[in-house]
Amino acid sequence: MIVKTKELKFSKGWVYAPAPESKEHIQLKSRYELFIGGKFVTPVNGKYFDTINPSNEEKIAGIAEASIEDVNRAVTSARTAYEKYWKMTPAKERGKYLFRIARMIQERAREFAVIESMDGGKPIRESRDVDIPLVAAHFFYYAGWADKLEYAFSNRKPRPLGVAGQIIPWNFPLLMAAWKIAPALACGNTVVLKPAETTPLTALKLAELIQESGLPDGVVNIITGAGTTGAALVNHPDVDKIAFTGSTDVGKIIQKATAGTNKKVTLELGGKAANIIFDDAPIDQAVEGIVNGIYFNQGHVCCAGSRLFVQENIYNTVLQKLKDRMETLIVGDPLDKNTDIGAINSKPQLEKINYFIEEGKKEGADMYQSSCPVPEKGYWCRPTLFTNVSQSHRIAKEEIFGPVLAIQTFRTVDEVIEKANNTPYGLSAGVWSDKGSKVFDVGKKLRAGVIWANTFNKFDPSSPFGGYKESGFGREGGVYGLEGYCK
Ligand code: NAD
Repeated sequence: MIVKTKELKFSKGWVYAPAPESKEHIQLKSRYELFIGGKFVTPVNGKYFDTINPSNEEKIAGIAEASIEDVNRAVTSARTAYEKYWKMTPAKERGKYLFRIARMIQERAREFAVIESMDGGKPIRESRDVDIPLVAAHFFYYAGWADKLEYAFSNRKPRPLGVAGQIIPWNFPLLMAAWKIAPALACGNTVVLKPAETTPLTALKLAELIQESGLPDGVVNIITGAGTTGAALVNHPDVDKIAFTGSTDVGKIIQKATAGTNKKVTLELGGKAANIIFDDAPIDQAVEGIVNGIYFNQGHVCCAGSRLFVQENIYNTVLQKLKDRMETLIVGDPLDKNTDIGAINSKPQLEKINYFIEEGKKEGADMYQSSCPVPEKGYWCRPTLFTNVSQSHRIAKEEIFGPVLAIQTFRTVDEVIEKANNTPYGLSAGVWSDKGSKVFDVGKKLRAGVIWANTFNKFDPSSPFGGYKESGFGREGGVYGLEGYCK
């Protein structure tokens, strides 16, 4: 049913009746153990922590906290599985397991999508239409590579590394797990994965699915915990590879910890992407791209277009259209299919975002926030933008990881390239222009690993992803994603 209210008719257009996704088909336990050696085992120290639904602050489940002893158990199990069967398993068989996992994820896509939205706060539209289909697509994609590695690396004989330790963040919990597990297994490695402490549930559901898939015990181990657990995995002497996605600060700690060891390392870190709109761009499309780049998924995207550069002569038009669009965005229940912007992932993350909003105001930038209502309970942030921003403002320099946009203007191509590259990060960027030649020219000069032309935040398993400078090194996705798991 669609309801048009009198009050909101002119300011906001249509108002939709709630359309919540059902939770009936979801099976969740009240407590989750560690997945080691193909079994769910209790943590040695008997400690558990809570995972919270950020949209209502209610506990969803207790989660085992892995200690150093548990990390040792998981690494030993991965090593045994590697030596005993996985390195002898024919590549075609490895591929079959990955195909099976991909198909099983598709069969349970709805369940994974709902749990992802409950645990992480992202709108069901995003987890249902983006995250989970991409998870299955990654497993399918790398399943296909398993027996074709020699074509990926011509004139070389790729061999697996051994045991891969993988640590992931909370913004794309299951997708980051897929980005890491699928290529590692395709190349013949075994895995110990540690999901983020605020979003462990879909990884643990994946563990259940892996158990059912018949994958040999210990090939994938999933252990939960916070930074101490991650650090124990990084420092474990029997781990051959560390694949980390997370903040630049932790990335630097990992780089120091692994320096001088034989561990192969890939780091996917923070970002402060420039989204550049030229005056010959299709403006309505570009405004949609800005909204997609920074507001959908609450700005919890490493490649979020958090710095907007608008050519001066179209600035007023773009700003007005953007504000009008912001007014139509719906912030609320992540499980409601109408929701555009869900809950902020955790209380500390909300506090960080609010801190930066206050900093922006203190530094003299002008703030504008959508007037949309937000629920009383839970962690919420209205879509926010700042104008009158200078290059030195913290909101233009530092990663906020929330729905907060810093807008600057420019006159010439050279000026915008200099401004866009004036950042320690280099993960992604967007260019909007009617002229292909301009897009390619600007794209070549931007120091960012991924550049979208007339679109934003689009992913595909065959495209490599990764950064320059403090956004990390190494690539995930595509044929390049195999390199990090072979020697
Ligand atoms: P974070 O660095 O705080 O945590 C990431 C993971 O590392 C978590 O699992 C955490 O438990 C673990 N960890 C924390 N301290 C550790 C330590 N000392 N040793 C080992 N592991 C440790 O990041 P976050 O807040 O979870 O995620 C947000 C950050 O991730 C943002 O900076 C974002 O840009 C980045 N990110 C990057 C990409 C990318 O592909 N480049 C993708 C998603 C997120």
